[in-house]
Amino acid sequence: MNTFSQPKTFNLAIVGGGISGLTLAIALQKHDIPITVYESAASFGEIGAGVGFEANFVRTMELISPGIKEGFLRCSNNVETEPPKWFDVRIGDTQKADSEGSVYEKDGRKIRIGEPIFTIPARRGPRGGVHRAHFLDELIKLLPPGIAQFKKKLVDVTETSGGDAVLHFADGTTAQHTAVIGCDGIKSRTRELVLNREEARPVFSGKYAYRGIIPMQKAVEFLGDEEPRTPQMYCGYKGHVLTFPIANGTIFNGMALTVRVVVAFSSRAEWTDPEWVVKTSREDMLADYAGWTDKVKGIMANVKNPDIWALFNHVPARTFHQSKPRICLLGDAAHSTTPHQGSGAGMCIEDCYVLGELLGEISSADELEKAFRAYDAVRRPRALKLVETSRAAGMLWELEGPEGDDLEAFKKNALSRMSWIWDHRIEQDLERARELLRA
Ligand SMILES: Cc1cc2nc3c(=O)[nH]c(=O)nc-3n(C[C@H](O)[C@H](O)[C@H](O)COP(=O)(O)OP(=O)(O)OC[C@H]3O[C@@H](n4cnc5c(N)ncnc54)[C@H](O)[C@@H]3O)c2cc1C
Repeated sequence: MNTFSQPKTFNLAIVGGGISGLTLAIALQKHDIPITVYESAASFGEIGAGVGFEANFVRTMELISPGIKEGFLRCSNNVETEPPKWFDVRIGDTQKADSEGSVYEKDGRKIRIGEPIFTIPARRGPRGGVHRAHFLDELIKLLPPGIAQFKKKLVDVTETSGGDAVLHFADGTTAQHTAVIGCDGIKSRTRELVLNREEARPVFSGKYAYRGIIPMQKAVEFLGDEEPRTPQMYCGYKGHVLTFPIANGTIFNGMALTVRVVVAFSSRAEWTDPEWVVKTSREDMLADYAGWTDKVKGIMANVKNPDIWALFNHVPARTFHQSKPRICLLGDAAHSTTPHQGSGAGMCIEDCYVLGELLGEISSADELEKAFRAYDAVRRPRALKLVETSRAAGMLWELEGPEGDDLEAFKKNALSRMSWIWDHRIEQDLERARELLRA
């Protein structure tokens, strides 16, 4: 037991066993807080995708538990450059090219389409991409067996006369806890309970993404030796293409490097399909990039079995918690964002650090609301700012922000917009939250 903490007279239900739910479980274990994780799926990590964490988020993992950082390092696959770089930025769309394949900047300087315009540097420190399922496996290793119950889809939460929360599951069973922490992702049921169905509803961002992996050997054939080995962003009108190398010897039979491709593309005002990941044809996908450079067309032509991922986000929540019954939202359930600044899961980690430490400081059910309030006051502004600026970043990368295709203004914005995310001192947030808790 933590020598400074008192025995807890409350116990918590964590709904959802994604990155948020499992990281929070580790953070709470540290303080000997009794918890049970309820997951609707039959096991953890059923849905896989790549997730990137920048250096500040990896530092926050370590603050929660060195084991999380070590697990991250075991499964992360970043090929670091010196100095560290987030992306080289290029124009990949030939729509406004002159006869020599150039576009003009404001001052008349020519920029060749496809050539690097500038580099967005990253911060120093361990960072990189992980496969979500692999990272979840590492988190699970840090938890005792039997902490989670599967096939428990939460449908409702009611309150007992004593103030406890009763969780009702789709299989007809119930469970009683002092409070519920909703880590149930973008389609969160707990969010609907804290806000209301309309306020909780995710909205389509107007963008969708294709995702795929290309063997490095193949990428070198049409991109040359250098370009595929470091992260690249190809910007265009209503679309952008990201490629970055991942070191992974397992996917392609011992081949040391692969290129992962992510594409976001604005195509429709609304998304009506109830599914957010749908199959599409290669022809339809290639049609989206018909006006782009040969290199970008080459990247897209090598994306096998393309899926479309519709990108949704939440509108700002007016609160992250309620007291009757006690529910507190965390991670995507509280603030789902588009991926255009690559920080959604990082924000989940920050939430876990702050809430975990606050809950570690209290010992009784009566203090829970105060802890939730302090967490809400500190975390909500930052997390909601990410949602808003991420949406704007999607517009910037696709030359439809206020800067349009003024490349000087574009560069200025791109070079400064990540600082507030990456240079943030999360320990200061915690200090502020602690002051609120003790006030
Ligand atoms: C295309 C794309 C790219 C991204 N890239 C990045 C990136 O590079 N970097 C980054 O930081 N972030 C990225 N993100 C965001 C990141 O993936 C999410 O922020 C993060 O995974 C959210 O984790 P979570 O645990 O809060 O939610 P989820 O991962 O959605 O987990 C929720 C869990 O709750 C369970 N659940 C749902 N409903 C119920 C219920 N009613 N009862 C019980 N259990 C339930 C689910 O089965 C699931 O296991 C990206 C997102 C997308 C869509």
